[in-house]
Amino acid sequence: MLFLVQFMALSGVNVPSASLLVTIETVKYLSLELLMAMLFWVVLHGRGYCFYCPLGTLLGFLAKKAGQRITTDSKICVACGKCNSVCPMGIDIMSKAKLKESVVDATCVGCGRCVDACPARTLSYETNFLTFVERLRVKKI
Ligand code: SF4
Ligand code: SF4
Repeated sequence: MLFLVQFMALSGVNVPSASLLVTIETVKYLSLELLMAMLFWVVLHGRGYCFYCPLGTLLGFLAKKAGQRITTDSKICVACGKCNSVCPMGIDIMSKAKLKESVVDATCVGCGRCVDACPARTLSYETNFLTFVERLRVKKI
């Protein structure tokens, strides 16, 4: 910003007022720098920011309405703990898998990392809609 102001002054262009510069800087900070920081966070840590952002509460509510769950009864859990170690939200999936109970947790962001990490193929990602589509597919066969 300082470079731009110096450039404008040297070019003979009217330099904007201080309050306008503050507004521009604030908008730039909120729209670009915070967004970039959030994108890096998402890429590196899944949706870990859901712990702190009110939007996470809304997304958790929508996930609950959609019937989002991780089912754990496809195969036998070998208790390796890989699902727990990759979950960005720190959800204890293994305890549920040992009991063959579905993981229904408001903080689950549906990233599917636990499903991919499971060497025994015990876990599956499901929602009410996916279950409905699967039933239709089975009926057609
Ligand atoms: S999908 Fe699995 S790894 Fe991702 S947040 Fe939910 S429980 Fe954790
Ligand atoms: S990764 Fe799969 S086998 Fe390993 S503890 Fe989790 S559910 Fe069980």
